[in-house]
This record gives sequence, structure tokens and C-alpha cells, in this order.
Amino acid sequence: MNLQSFLKKLQNTLDQEDIVQDPEEIKAYSLDRTKDFSSGGSLLLFPRDVSQVQEIILYANEDKIPLVPSGGRTGYSGGAVASNHEVIVSLKKMNQIVEFDSTLPAITAEAGVITKTLQKEVETRGYYFPIDFASSGSSMIGGNIATNAGGIRVIRYGPIRNWILGLEVVTGKGEILKFISHLFKNNTGYDLKHCFIGSEGTLGIITQATLLVTKKPKDSIVYLFAFSDLKSVLISLEISKKVLEGILCFEFFDSSCLRLVCNRHSLSYPFEELKNKECWYVLLEIEKSEYIHDDLFENFLNEIYNTNLLNATYSDIESKKKELFRYREDISEAVAMSGKFHKNDISLPIKCIDDFVNELKEIVIQNFSDFKLFLFGHLGDGNIHINLLADSLYDENLFKEKISVFDEILYKKIFEYKGSISAEHGIGLLKKKFLPYSKTKEEINYMKEIKKLFDPNCILNPGKIFDL
Ligand SMILES: Cc1cc2nc3c(=O)[nH]c(=O)nc-3n(C[C@H](O)[C@H](O)[C@H](O)COP(=O)(O)OP(=O)(O)OC[C@H]3O[C@@H](n4cnc5c(N)ncnc54)[C@H](O)[C@@H]3O)c2cc1C
Repeated sequence: MNLQSFLKKLQNTLDQEDIVQDPEEIKAYSLDRTKDFSSGGSLLLFPRDVSQVQEIILYANEDKIPLVPSGGRTGYSGGAVASNHEVIVSLKKMNQIVEFDSTLPAITAEAGVITKTLQKEVETRGYYFPIDFASSGSSMIGGNIATNAGGIRVIRYGPIRNWILGLEVVTGKGEILKFISHLFKNNTGYDLKHCFIGSEGTLGIITQATLLVTKKPKDSIVYLFAFSDLKSVLISLEISKKVLEGILCFEFFDSSCLRLVCNRHSLSYPFEELKNKECWYVLLEIEKSEYIHDDLFENFLNEIYNTNLLNATYSDIESKKKELFRYREDISEAVAMSGKFHKNDISLPIKCIDDFVNELKEIVIQNFSDFKLFLFGHLGDGNIHINLLADSLYDENLFKEKISVFDEILYKKIFEYKGSISAEHGIGLLKKKFLPYSKTKEEINYMKEIKKLFDPNCILNPGKIFDL
């Protein structure tokens, strides 16, 4: 690695202000939302166009410089972490909306556009971009694509992969690939853009994307249900998929999450009488339509009244809907504010969730009683966030030791249930050792071959997803 030679070449390519050597700034850009790694980047770059990204990659190949592509750094897997003298390439200054094509309809944007900004841009044109989650005010389109982000609307719209019509990337070799971006139909052999979606910055740097948009959903109604057991929650999911039209989200959380959110964010309890009761909550959002008030919804309600439903509330008023959403959306931050925490983002076949959760609870009670368990997530997609929380004074080393034992047990269970060790957040540094619990040896070998093809010198995000 020859950083001086690399720096010298960059002086002719990037403006001085886009080459940052200040240790404090580099430190901030060296970390994402994981708490497991130390910061250790050696340089921070802000390219302003695709040709600058290309030159950075070409020079990095010449001087054997490891690069970390960086978006909003809201990731939960250490994918954007630079802890080993890497050079961080932030897409922050490539933040232009390039084009809106209403004939598709689709929007073309640079990779550094903030997700929320893109959503708003699309809304001003009377359309809707459905990839949305609690960090969309900070995450960037490039990061969303590199992680194949999902969020609360996956049950209706699927993950971002479904919305990508075109991509521009610079591969690890330094070649610019412009995948055609204005065609719905294009069956001309392998669709290589899909290799880059969810590749966590290991194959290429995404510089631009054309994203499909859709009609804005009609007004919605948000319901909050409390059930006494998870089985009833799952029955209500099944019934809603069968009976309801226009589901926009089906999220769940346990009563520990609700108590934490209410305490941390000073929110009032939705059902005061259930404050100290162990139960399960469902946040269901449905597009308002003629169905809402007719027989279909009545049917749904009648059917779920036969489950162990404890209470329910709903609203179609914007401010009240936001309040209901906070019970779910503020959980991640509430956990992060409350001590030492460890997150897992897993998915399971929906039919196995009740058995799995019962086993998981037993494992925590028997072996990890120092920790509190918080369960929430996108239940409609079989996606559960498993969070363990310890007191902030809990010994750091002991915490790490126990967490690593926990993960091993958890991932073995997930393997048994044919689930995935990462539903949305990716593998990054955090889960690479556990990749074989979700991918076969053969699959991993093919993944490594693809990596070598696009990035033969392994300069892009080395050590993320797997070691070569
Ligand atoms: C409160 C909270 C809630 C969240 N909820 C969800 C959720 O519901 N669903 C979900 O999917 N995720 C969720 N996340 C995780 C995270 O926000 C997403 O993974 C998001 O897509 C990451 O985008 P980013 O721009 O922050 O990427 P970063 O964290 O900066 O990077 C993520 C990965 O992408 C790579 N990368 C970044 N930009 C590029 C690029 N231009 N080209 C190539 N590679 C690149 C990085 O190297 C890294 O490997 C949540 C996070 C938080 C903090």
C-alpha cells in the first residue's frame, strides 16, 4: 500500500477540499451504526462525478489501496466501517437528481442523494418512492442499493431491488458500467446490475441509479392491536393477507419494546390497562378504500376477534397516525440509548416464527439472563429484529464474549429453521464468520469468483462479507 503515491496522483484529480486528512473527520466517517469496531480510516475522499470515482479506483489498483464506499453510514453490519487504514470514498457530494421520466415513471439520481430527499422530490411530482425506514433521513440511495434495503413497506412493494431499472457503477477494476436504464424489457442474457444490488460495496461503487416510482397510495388508516400471544399475532397476519386489500405495513413488537419506547421518548401508553402485561403489538396500515368500511374489513375484524385480541385502536388523522408509528419506529433508537446492545436482523419462514420465538426466549432465560430481550420487526415479511440489552456499566469484554456465544447458538437455530442470518442489514464485518449458516459452500465459492471478476486486486471493501 503506497498512500503517498496515491495522494500525489489524487491532487491532479480532486479539489483540495475533497481530500480530507483531518483525523477527527476521518474518524467520524470510519464508522457506521454498529458499535463493534474501532475507527481506523487513513484518508477521506469526496468525488464529485463518475470520472473522479473511476480515477480513484484506478489509482487504488496501482497503489494497492483498500477503499471503503461510504453512504449515510446508517448500516448495522459494519459494511461502511474503515478500521484498517482504508481510504473512505464518500458519495455525499454526488447528490444531484439527474432526470425524471414521467413516461416510465422513474427518477434518475446520483448515489449520494439522501433517501428522504429522493422521496420528497418524487412526491413533488405527484408520485411515490416506497423504500422507507427510520433512517431514511440520513441513508443514501447508493447505500440503499448496496444493501438491497427494505423497510416498512416491503410487504406491499418489496425491497429496493424491485425498483431499480438502471444502474451506473464503477467496478473494482475501474471500468464504468452503464446498465441501460429506460427499458422495462431487456432479455439479453445475464442482467449484471443485480450483482451489485446487495453487494455491500465489494464489487463496484454505485454512482447513479434509475429508480421506478409509483402512484402515491391513497390515504391510510393505521391500526394498533394488542394480542396476548404471538400465535394470535401470526393468525391475524394470515387473516389480513387473505382478507384485506391494500396492506401498507404489518409490523410487530413485544411489550418490552413498548415500555422502553414509552420511557425513553416520554410517550403515553396506547392501552393503559396493559402497561404491565406481557403481550404483543401489531401496527397495521391499510390504504383507505371502499373496502375499509365494507364487509371485507368487518370480516377481518370478526375473524381476529376470535383470537386473543386484548385491545385495539386506530386513526386516519395524520398526527395521530404518526404517534402510533412512533411506538414501532422509535424502538431502534430507544434500545441504542439504553445501554450496551446487540442487534440481530433475521428472517424466518412465517410458519416457524412462533416455535422459534419460544425456543429463543427459553435460550435467553436459561443462558443469558443478564440481558433483556427485545423483539420487533417487519413481521409481514418474516423479518425479526432480535435485540439484547445489558446495563451500560456491564463489563465490555464479558458482553462481547457472551454475545458471541449467543450469536453462535442463534445462527445454528436459524439454520435449523431454514431462515436467514441477515434479512436486511447485510453481512459486512459483523456477520461474515456466520455466512455459512445461510449460504452453502458452493454459493460462497461462486460469490468469491464474482468478487475476483469485478475486483481482481480486492481493493473494494476488503474483508467485508467474506475473506478471500
Ligand atoms: C434507525 C434505523 C433503522 C433502520 N431500518 C432499516 C430497515 O427497516 N430496513 C433496512 O433495510 N435497513 C434499515 N436500516 C439499516 C440502514 O439504514 C440501511 O442498510 C441503509 O440502506 C444503509 O444506507 P447508507 O447510505 O447509510 O449506507 P452505509 O451504511 O453508508 O453503507 C452500507 C453498505 O453499502 C456500501 N455502500 C454505500 N454506498 C455505496 C455506493 N455508492 N456504492 C457501493 N457501495 C456502497 C458500504 O460500503 C456498506 O457496505 C436501519 C438503520 C437505522 C439506523
